[in-house]
Amino acid sequence: MAKTCYYEVLKVSRDSSDREIAKAYRKLAVKFHPDSNPGDEEASKNFKQAAEAYEVLSDSEKRARYDRHGFAGVEGGAGQFNSAEDIFAAFGEMFGGGGGFGDIFGRGNRTRRGSDIQIQLTLSLEEASRGVEKTINFDKRHTCDTCDGSGSKPGSQPQGCQQCGGRGQVLQSAGILRVQTTCPVCRGAGKIIVDPCTDCRGQGQVNRETTLEVQIPAGVDDGMQVRLSGEGEASSSGGPPGDCYCFINVRKHKLFHRDGRDLILQMPISYTQAALGAEIEVPTLDGPDTIKIARGTQSGDVLKLSGRGMPDPRGGRKGDLLVQTYIETPKKLGKDQEELLRKLAELEKTNVLPEQKNFLQRITDYFATSETS
Ligand SMILES: [Zn+2]
Ligand SMILES: [Zn+2]
Repeated sequence: MAKTCYYEVLKVSRDSSDREIAKAYRKLAVKFHPDSNPGDEEASKNFKQAAEAYEVLSDSEKRARYDRHGFAGVEGGAGQFNSAEDIFAAFGEMFGGGGGFGDIFGRGNRTRRGSDIQIQLTLSLEEASRGVEKTINFDKRHTCDTCDGSGSKPGSQPQGCQQCGGRGQVLQSAGILRVQTTCPVCRGAGKIIVDPCTDCRGQGQVNRETTLEVQIPAGVDDGMQVRLSGEGEASSSGGPPGDCYCFINVRKHKLFHRDGRDLILQMPISYTQAALGAEIEVPTLDGPDTIKIARGTQSGDVLKLSGRGMPDPRGGRKGDLLVQTYIETPKKLGKDQEELLRKLAELEKTNVLPEQKNFLQRITDYFATSETS
């Protein structure tokens, strides 16, 4: 397989500075990092390719040989990166700080926030309109009370890690580079639990059901989130807890369709109401209201009830209720109605179908005419 030019891999020009090359590589490493692209072969390939290109171009001697002789100039000299771990081991330091590469991806031995939790919360449109208090139940990881999160059985002490001398970091050699990485034995903690707490099996955390009262502000819309700060999972490294996010689903309403802050209502009116005008009762989320239908209203005309829509959750003006009229044709007509409509049709010189006879009568008529012909 033909190899892609190292400059192309890093998307830099041939005369870029070391800093530009490092910057370009850092960007690609973050983008294609396996932690952000689990199971993605292509990303993994790109990640390794970028590391190889960086290894050559960040070394002035190798870069000069590559510039002069191409891949042949650096054959055997370019890194053999089989895994992401190899790459961290080689270039961990360039990602800054004592925590190394791991910190970009939330690893390393610094304290970390607990994880966030996501809860789905379904509301009716009425609840979304008025705001509501909801009780939610979910499981989350709490700090273990028995060991106070240490993971060690009460009375016992964790031992300092011998591999890293309690620093959580070890120095590794990768060719001419000496880089610091997270200690593989204690995984950065610097200590090892010898007598684990039985309640949490040494994890320092336990799963427990949690009940919370959530105040949902008036006007929330489908897809919005309400954040409950600090109500997520406990941190396993002594950091602050995560947050809990309530994702709002608003059920479809039988009458109203929501459009941002406005509500839309499809309202049937009769031909006579449309032609002569009328005052009709319309439902709103706050109870019935009346609107005036003007003479000559057309199907599809929209009437506005100001301030009868949804509140703005950010405190702005309330939306409107838009009443969209449509003319409903009667499916059945009484005898008098039919007579009047026929008269009207005559008056309007409208061509209408003759009065419908019932089915049996039509069959009789049919045979009567075919006999005579
Ligand atoms: Zn415990
Ligand atoms: Zn260690």
